[in-house]
Amino acid sequence: MKASIYVHVPFCASKCAYCDFESYAGKLAYADEYIARVLDEAKRAKTEYGAFGVPSVFIGGGTPSLLSKEQIGRILGGLSDLFAFDKEIEITMEANPGTVDGEKLSYIRKAGVNRISFGAQAAQDVILSSLERIHKWVDVEEAVSKAQDAGIDNINVDLMYALPGQTMDDFVSSVQKALDLNIRHLSMYSLILEEGTKLFERAERGEVTIPGDDESVSMQERAIEEIEKRCMKRYEISNYAYPGYECRHNIVYWTRKNYLGLGSGAHSLMNEARFFNPCFSSYMNGEGFGEREMISEYERMEETIMLETRMTRGLDMEAFSKAFGNERAQRVLKEADEFIKAGFAEKNGSFLSFTREGMNVQNALIVKLLEKL
Ligand code: SF4
Repeated sequence: MKASIYVHVPFCASKCAYCDFESYAGKLAYADEYIARVLDEAKRAKTEYGAFGVPSVFIGGGTPSLLSKEQIGRILGGLSDLFAFDKEIEITMEANPGTVDGEKLSYIRKAGVNRISFGAQAAQDVILSSLERIHKWVDVEEAVSKAQDAGIDNINVDLMYALPGQTMDDFVSSVQKALDLNIRHLSMYSLILEEGTKLFERAERGEVTIPGDDESVSMQERAIEEIEKRCMKRYEISNYAYPGYECRHNIVYWTRKNYLGLGSGAHSLMNEARFFNPCFSSYMNGEGFGEREMISEYERMEETIMLETRMTRGLDMEAFSKAFGNERAQRVLKEADEFIKAGFAEKNGSFLSFTREGMNVQNALIVKLLEKL
């Protein structure tokens, strides 16, 4: 059996204005105790599933780079003692610029981290400060360069668009500056205003204006032109990489392979059972995995369509037909013919994929496909 592992690290230096993730400022003092609980949880998983093979580990957050180098080493050392890490394992750590130095990066590289994802968000300090990020753009440049010096060349930078006060030129310039850093992977996410965040409240009070849907799509389109000029390829709705640098861990999610989520709020999908952990305070009180929910065949089929069509390679119709029957596959293909005629989809061999225009309206297309099943 194989399963990827996600480790959630919920500590942050401060809370960003748009963030509704499972993350907390001012709780870093609990890190040692938290890591002990994560490793206990991993031991329990080993008792249940055995010492399974691990193709990828993703340490996400929160801000995992706030942990000390020894704490990060302890997580990875503990997991590799329990499970069978693949020889070519991909180990990603999320990091905030300004929270890493050369020494920490060299140490974690030796501990196994071979991919870093930096949350940069924008190249304009005025925008970063309005989002209440703790870093400036110069910190991104320094962090990426130090990671490269430490021997980690597989680097992702996260950017956001449709931000308050952000112009098209701002966003294109952010993309250009990120690509100038000689990174291998770029993720771009549109801002989603989440209720309960400071930014949501500011927008409600009319203090900030967020670019509308059309503007947001235009921003993404312009950015894609810049990315393609540098021969980086889109491989998922929000993700772009040079060939061979696609994030293997995220592909596990989109292809519905097994993943075990450790730590507060982490989700798991193991042998078609889904379960998730409670939030930080309950987790620290010893509450473990929540109830297991077995996924029905219909849900599996829905998820397969929703997740695989996020990727530019598309939905593998041969595999779909084997898993869910030829009759359903034919119904999907019949509906897809309409999308193909409208320029929203294409078929390459066994794969049905959405074109760039189709990706812009992915949700609506999926609803139509699901209606036919
Ligand atoms: S660093 Fe990330 S997880 Fe932490 S508060 Fe900011 S957006 Fe949320």
